[in-house]
Amino acid sequence: MTSVAQRVSAWLAFHTLAKLIHSLARYGAKSERRPAVSLARTLMMCIALLACSIPGHSQSTRAADYLFNDTHFHLTNYIQEGIDIHDFLKIMGTKAGRVALFGIPLQQQWSYRVDENRAPTYYLNSDAPLYYYSFTDAWIATAYKSLSKEEQARFDPMITGFNPTDMYAADHIRRVLKAFPGVFTGIGEFSIHKEFVSAKISGVVASLFDPALDRLIDFASEVGLVILIHNDVDVPFAKPGAEPAYAKQIKALFLRHPNATFIWAHIGVGRIIRPIKEQAAIIENVIKDPKLSHVYFDISWDEVAKYVVATPESTKNAASLLNRHPDRFVFGTDEVAPPDQEKYLKVYNQYEPLWKLLTPEASEKVRKGNYQRIFDEARRKVRSWEAANLK
Ligand SMILES: [Zn+2]
Repeated sequence: MTSVAQRVSAWLAFHTLAKLIHSLARYGAKSERRPAVSLARTLMMCIALLACSIPGHSQSTRAADYLFNDTHFHLTNYIQEGIDIHDFLKIMGTKAGRVALFGIPLQQQWSYRVDENRAPTYYLNSDAPLYYYSFTDAWIATAYKSLSKEEQARFDPMITGFNPTDMYAADHIRRVLKAFPGVFTGIGEFSIHKEFVSAKISGVVASLFDPALDRLIDFASEVGLVILIHNDVDVPFAKPGAEPAYAKQIKALFLRHPNATFIWAHIGVGRIIRPIKEQAAIIENVIKDPKLSHVYFDISWDEVAKYVVATPESTKNAASLLNRHPDRFVFGTDEVAPPDQEKYLKVYNQYEPLWKLLTPEASEKVRKGNYQRIFDEARRKVRSWEAANLK
């Protein structure tokens, strides 16, 4: 993509070069009074303009120059605090092209009765419950709307502030689209089974069988919203040899919703839910099922990266899976309000051994191309649904 600025710079450089040649001719004719100063100035201007006209040196970096697009990013944390989106743009810099943007739908309650003055900031800091915090969607939409059009193009905001056990969850999503048309591309990350989190949420525990979940996914499919779902493939301390608790259930959910676009966060792996030997087989089983071509996998989270690059053998196995199915995996960071670029790039850099083993095609698709394809398609669908349905 050549920007207007690049083309203008190129034209100016050409124009200045022509002037320089003209000046040289005049210098040759000895009619220039201060030839050295004038020539040096013109030459410098010419070089500066040419530099600006070279793709990749302009202010707006080309899509091809970014390292990755990020399918999984939290601007705020479990107490709804985070970083300013303008600061985050600086952190993305020339490394991240586009980012799927969300907060966290759950709020850790500060219960004075339980924690006194130890204000918890993470769900593992306290026995007090988590609760669904719908205002996160307004917060994300407001942050997005504070950006210029060009900056907005680098984000795909996601709706997360719904309770997936509530039959009214779909109505919340509709209401958010109505309040903030032209903003959102997807829903999630939202969690059904997540180690240590599911059991801490106020109210009934979520389930992959819940009609409320089916209803909200039906609605997201109708609109064309991407669905980023977190669901561990197993329970934290499974009985040895037992079948992974949720593998069949989540596959059944995917099969019930053929018109949805699913991204299964963290390929179903958790902090202590290790990528059991069968995990690669479970994933490949989904990938090879022609009825599940609408399911993608994100490889976000430092915990997932840790397992993937644990040994040369594990890295080779993961690379082989990605090389066999390059269209089905997307990179994400799963960073939560990172303070600087070094922290933000941590997971990307952690995957260095994996990147090295991918074919050029797989590497490009997993880091950037698949994101672009999936989210561009969703943007187009959601905008046209909004135009037809929100009056
Ligand atoms: Zn996450």
